[in-house]
Amino acid sequence: MDFDVLVIGGGPGGYVAAIKSSQLGLNTACIEFDSTEDEKVKLGGTCLNVGCIPSKSLLDSSYKFHQLKDGLAEHGISAGKPKLDISKMMDRKNAIVKKLTGGVSHLFSHNKVTSIHGKGKLVNPTTVEVTDIKGKKNTYTAKNIILAAGSRPINIPSVPWNGTSVIGSSGALELEEVPKSLAIIGAGVIGLELGSVWSRLGSKVEIFEAENNLLPMLDRDVVKVIEREFKNQNLNISLGCFVKGSKTSRSGVSLEVEIEGKLQKKSFDKVIVAVGRRPFTEDLLAKDCGLELDERGFITVDDYCQTSLPNVYAVGDIVRGPMLAHKAMEEGVMAAERIAGKKMEVNYNLVPSVIYTHPEIAWVGRTEEDLKSDGVEFKKGNFPFAASGRALAAGDSAGLVKVLADKDTDEVLGIQIFGNGAAEILQQGLIGMEFSASSEDFGLTMFSHPTVSEALHEAALAVNKQAIHIGN
Ligand code: FAD
Ligand code: NAD
Repeated sequence: MDFDVLVIGGGPGGYVAAIKSSQLGLNTACIEFDSTEDEKVKLGGTCLNVGCIPSKSLLDSSYKFHQLKDGLAEHGISAGKPKLDISKMMDRKNAIVKKLTGGVSHLFSHNKVTSIHGKGKLVNPTTVEVTDIKGKKNTYTAKNIILAAGSRPINIPSVPWNGTSVIGSSGALELEEVPKSLAIIGAGVIGLELGSVWSRLGSKVEIFEAENNLLPMLDRDVVKVIEREFKNQNLNISLGCFVKGSKTSRSGVSLEVEIEGKLQKKSFDKVIVAVGRRPFTEDLLAKDCGLELDERGFITVDDYCQTSLPNVYAVGDIVRGPMLAHKAMEEGVMAAERIAGKKMEVNYNLVPSVIYTHPEIAWVGRTEEDLKSDGVEFKKGNFPFAASGRALAAGDSAGLVKVLADKDTDEVLGIQIFGNGAAEILQQGLIGMEFSASSEDFGLTMFSHPTVSEALHEAALAVNKQAIHIGN
């Protein structure tokens, strides 16, 4: 055999699986076909190249611009009319991406992971055929294989991408000027994050969502607060509407949208399609390689990411579960450890989610809806950031923390946060939940004052009607 472990895909699932395998003493290679202009292998996958990192770079830059333009007057600060240099903003983003993708290559060298450049195809449980960028084929064998080929955006026939005026999320991270008007199809994670970026930079943004409920994975009382805040930010979201057709011209795109049963024509400079992603299995599996896909095209795996072929694992966006980089990384570690004979498990009940709007939306565990449908009796506590001294001092007091706990045992079962710093606050709650903390445990833990995290402390106290800084 050429290797102990061969990984196909160099995104967060694949590169982490490869590094971990090598750290566990396994002779490991990682195959990736994405490349730079000078044909060097480009590691990091969707997350580093066209996902988590470039989107957060633009979210942070656009937030600073927006603050300078509209957010500092209440602090008694004015700086005249701010100027926007979009190409500098994009250069900064590209430099961060380059630094991080190069960092993964260094980690490969440091951990003695062999990097193979080309497109990998699983031929049988121990063989992968790799077609390099010149079309030359090589075959590699390995005792174990980890598939981590990721996902691609879904296209919709009524609004096909053209790469210029109708774009996907990758195109929306590369715009060279701020569109005057921008339509986004899909009010999911990408729609809200990229809608925020371009709205802050000056676009008039309209988001069209097919579902009647915004963010169905959250409780309605939390979503009500989110909707109110987004309206204040001029993020116009139309729910329950369908884009029936589109026409592109030199001046932009005209959309035919069905809103409340009526067809309307609306024109925009650009349209971003963000209606979800699908597993990417094209040319990954030879016809008779023996692997099964489920009805939605995901590779079928068990709770440990093992496929129907015992020595073949699959991790990340290509398998069931939320399409999140941290979920992919944890699965990569689990697959490597299982191959090395260890017993690691991923706790799928506690996968955190964050939407990096301002304020951020972050949640983990179960919602009221989940608990009701499972017949679990619960109690709840809310704390608004408007009652947090630190949030008020920062001039950033929209939103709330909501904690749900089991009625009998008091174990915290779910946390939802909408507010400044939500992602970091949630992480503290999540650590407690990993150790089955009760709301009383959170209440008995001392939180530094003044911090926005105190809102988690108070929401946990509110579960048993013991909050100090709001009425119970
Ligand atoms: P990918 O990152 O897609 O990597 C798969 C890799 O495999 C790619 O490099 C691909 O080129 C390669 N590949 C595919 N087929 C082959 C083959 N046959 N041979 C060789 N190589 C192959 N998640 C978060 O957790 N937080 C965020 O803030 C966040 N922001 C996002 C923003 C955007 C705009 C997008 C689009 C996604 C975002 N995500 C975020 C999701 C996150 O990027 C993905 O969940 C994550 O990248 C999945 O990792 P993966 O390794 O499974 O797949
Ligand atoms: P999504 O599933 O979050 O949202 C897609 C939205 O489009 C949904 O609300 C859906 O109802 C709507 N939709 C579907 N078809 C439609 C149609 N024809 N017309 C109008 N609306 C329609 O998907 P996304 O926003 O494309 O993101 C893709 C994946 O990337 C997600 O799974 C997400 O987890 C991941 N991601 C994560 C982050 C993060 O963690 N911060 C950021 C970006 C992307």
